[in-house]
Amino acid sequence: MIKKQILEIIKQYQRFLIVAHIHPEGDSIGSQIAMANLLKTFGKSVRIINADAVPGNLAFLPGIETVESGIDAAVEDITFDAAVILDCPTLERIGKVKQLLGKGEYIINIDHHISNEHFGNINWVDFKASSVGEMVYGLFKGSNIPLDGASAQCIYVAIMTDTGSFHYSNTTAATHKIAAELLQYNINPTKVYEYIYETKSFETLKLLAEVLSNLQRSKDGKFVWFKVTDAMLKRNKLSHQSTDDFIDFVRMVEGAEVVAFLREVSHGNTVKVSLRSKTDIDVNKLAKHFGGGGHYAASGCVIEKNMEEAEKLLLRQIKKIFQEQKQG
Ligand code: 5GP
Ligand code: MN
Repeated sequence: MIKKQILEIIKQYQRFLIVAHIHPEGDSIGSQIAMANLLKTFGKSVRIINADAVPGNLAFLPGIETVESGIDAAVEDITFDAAVILDCPTLERIGKVKQLLGKGEYIINIDHHISNEHFGNINWVDFKASSVGEMVYGLFKGSNIPLDGASAQCIYVAIMTDTGSFHYSNTTAATHKIAAELLQYNINPTKVYEYIYETKSFETLKLLAEVLSNLQRSKDGKFVWFKVTDAMLKRNKLSHQSTDDFIDFVRMVEGAEVVAFLREVSHGNTVKVSLRSKTDIDVNKLAKHFGGGGHYAASGCVIEKNMEEAEKLLLRQIKKIFQEQKQG
């Protein structure tokens, strides 16, 4: 129903902006390109603009050259009739691209975060969807536009990255059915996996080794956490982006129920926290406590403190949550 409504609304507008969250990843970029392809089949003019650049491991995606990043004077002058905002629980998550809005454009909010704030003129929020890619796939089906190979590959990458290659708790039978159909479009899963996960620099793995040798855990082993400081990045000449999936290695620890990754940003005055849950602890709630959000099993927040203080605050809150869980 809502899909049909969105497709009807799309027909009413001509110039579209497609934007996703700051530090975009596979689901954002894959969904954006597929969405743009769908809109182009309706004869619409489309610009894909994000606040931050495309991560290097997505450079192989067909259509990646159409994804713009940053706002310069030339971009600021552009006006749109409608904005499709993908994979963003709040409007703030689009970062500086927000400067392009506010000229009366119609806002279409398509997302799968449980913490979504329904900021659009129309809001399609499905937190049962593994990814926004799965939702864009639904739009193709709803519109009876046949999938093209490029869109199939982009949607495949969106689903694959947001499900951790089909193993996170958001992976469903529907996810696999869609993936099975997408694979018929000449997608090579081995190659895609290699592009996405097996393109780490030597320095990145050395940093991962350092991180793993400094892992910390609570006495009962249920909470495991690790840190990356500015100094560690500088020493290895690496960017924050290169550490994005370090948490996937740490969640392998047996007995860990909640895993946290603390990253120093903004010259040590701010800490970006990534949270993952492997049990019945809702890390979206935990992230919300610090003004963030996300999903039940994967969320994030920003704590405006130095590393030491942020760590203390996080540990205190986690302890409280584990105690509350014990009390039932
Ligand atoms: P990650 O830890 O990989 O950055 O993000 C995990 C999930 O939490 C993603 O779905 C992401 O959108 C969400 N998330 C991460 N950081 C923040 C944040 O600072 N604010 C909000 N609202 N969500 C976040
Ligand atoms: Mn997503």
